[in-house]
Amino acid sequence: MTASAKIIGLVPIGKIPRDVLKVIAAHITGYLNLKTEILPPLKHPSYACDLRRLQYDAGIILSTLESMPFHDHDKVIGVLDVDLFIPVFTHVFGEARQGGKHALVSLYRLGSPPSIRKKLSPCILERAAKVALHELGHLFNRVHCEDSNCIMHFTGLVEDLDKIPPYFCPYCAAALPPI
Ligand SMILES: [Zn+2]
Ligand SMILES: [Zn+2]
Repeated sequence: MTASAKIIGLVPIGKIPRDVLKVIAAHITGYLNLKTEILPPLKHPSYACDLRRLQYDAGIILSTLESMPFHDHDKVIGVLDVDLFIPVFTHVFGEARQGGKHALVSLYRLGSPPSIRKKLSPCILERAAKVALHELGHLFNRVHCEDSNCIMHFTGLVEDLDKIPPYFCPYCAAALPPI
């Protein structure tokens, strides 16, 4: 298999609107020319809920993904709608194993939670796709980029996420799989 034939698996974790999975897949294929498949859903990650923070531990959910085979996919991105945290941050939009195979994208902070259960606005869909491209960059071993015109620029607020483009700067793009 050549590098350009890499297959990305998108796995809904819990009840995730089909729209958002399709938009994320379209962005990954459109910007990186990587084949992207939507996989059957996994159960809601209640096992990762931290009862003191009332948030979900991204590390525990990633470990669960890592315990699953996913033999047919080079990279796997879990999409969820719960509030994710890692110990050093109050919240994260997504999380990835740097240079690894598994990442997460959460819709929770990308718009008001009730709207997530109904039809997602184009704005939330675009944000979700950007978070997915950013986390995929980490899986391809890209680190945060100082260029605010690059998808690998770190953002912790949706206002900042809206300002960055959905593509990689030339430096970051150079290390991605050939397209
Ligand atoms: Zn990052
Ligand atoms: Zn960059």
